[in-house]
Amino acid sequence: MLTAPRVNSMELLRRYDTEGPRYTSYPTVPAWSNAFGHPDFASALRATGEAGAPLELYVHCPYCAAKCFYCGCNALTTSRPELIDQYLDDLETEIETVTQSLGKGKDVIQLHWGGGTPNHLDERQLQRAFGMLASHFTFLPNAELSVEADPRLVSREQLRTLYALGFRRLSFGVQDLDPQVQEAIGRVQSFAMVQDVVAAAREAGFEAINLDLIYGLPRQTQESFGRTIQQVLTLAPDRVACFGYAHMPAQRPHQRLIEQDDLPDGSARFALLRQAVSAFTSADYAWIGLDHFARADDPLAVAQRNGVLHRNFMGYTTRAGQHLLGLGMSAISEIEGTFAQNASALPEWRSSIRSGRLATVRGHTLSDDDRARQAAILRIMCDLELRIEEIPRGIEDLDARLAPFVADGLVVQHVDRIEVTALGRYFLRNICAVFDAYLPAQRAAGRFSRTI
Ligand code: SF4
Repeated sequence: MLTAPRVNSMELLRRYDTEGPRYTSYPTVPAWSNAFGHPDFASALRATGEAGAPLELYVHCPYCAAKCFYCGCNALTTSRPELIDQYLDDLETEIETVTQSLGKGKDVIQLHWGGGTPNHLDERQLQRAFGMLASHFTFLPNAELSVEADPRLVSREQLRTLYALGFRRLSFGVQDLDPQVQEAIGRVQSFAMVQDVVAAAREAGFEAINLDLIYGLPRQTQESFGRTIQQVLTLAPDRVACFGYAHMPAQRPHQRLIEQDDLPDGSARFALLRQAVSAFTSADYAWIGLDHFARADDPLAVAQRNGVLHRNFMGYTTRAGQHLLGLGMSAISEIEGTFAQNASALPEWRSSIRSGRLATVRGHTLSDDDRARQAAILRIMCDLELRIEEIPRGIEDLDARLAPFVADGLVVQHVDRIEVTALGRYFLRNICAVFDAYLPAQRAAGRFSRTI
């Protein structure tokens, strides 16, 4: 069992409760160039097709029934199924365009539908979306298919449809089960309902259930969050993600519906995360990287034990494929040493797709220096250590940059490696920032959320 560290010094929190990337990529999106466009992505797709390694697919389904106040996703709301049909029309065109460069019938080892709310699609739309993919790609027999779902929209028929299509892992957005918190975030869903959909998913045959929580929400207290965690534990999820709420009303105006005064301060947020770590590790969940927990037999925990854990735009993964191909508005791809992002706004994405072009609006091709720093950040985020030979060259003042972390007991420098301590795990984002060549120039723009 891992015990939460005792932090006596508010000074420590004041020093490290800053703004910084979550490092789901390196370089992070603000460092990418708008000069990178569809011809660049098309050539990366051709190189990927020739390389021939299995793909991971991410499909963005942006529509939701209503907007949650805390939402940080690229989401649209609708109650009109025909708008979802139109989106699927365009998605089909995008798949055609992508596979013209990539080649048709490429192997897929992993598929994830995220959003938005993928289960805002009805059964016919779910079957259509999957059919579009299946007719352009080859799903390997051992491919892992996962989908995000809003418990409030789940029906037994929908679960049966998803299972019949081959999905075996379901991620339910729970966030917090306290009624006061739910009222403050505009998302009301009772524990009884969550309990019921989890049971229905298991009855339908789903092998793995993920539950997503958020700490740092308005009106959340240690007492209320403790109750939520205990309720979640009774559902015996295979994985739990416990993300820190990113309150960025300047970039996400709908978050202004959240009262600033209701938000827990830095030390309260920190206490909530420590509470989650303590509760889940006490219940024999492995603490994965920064903010995930997994049962010992879950592939994520196995990957961590075997030193092959990976991190990308979807968070921690087992890195089934070598290339991640994102489809849909705002989707991000990581293929052949290249990052590319689709237009985030529906009209812009749609207009590119309908003109027969890829919808790429920005991207980045990794330099040798980027690759070395990317590998270092990945290892720290995933393995919590970095071997000496993995330290990127050219960071002249690394010892000086690490010195404050060493002095604060967050990092230990051994002869052969740098190791993150139990206390340092809470400050992983800050530690990784030491290796980030782009961050000093980006910070001023206020693009990042709080690191704690
Ligand atoms: S359901 Fe998810 S994606 Fe949709 S508005 Fe709520 S938080 Fe955002």
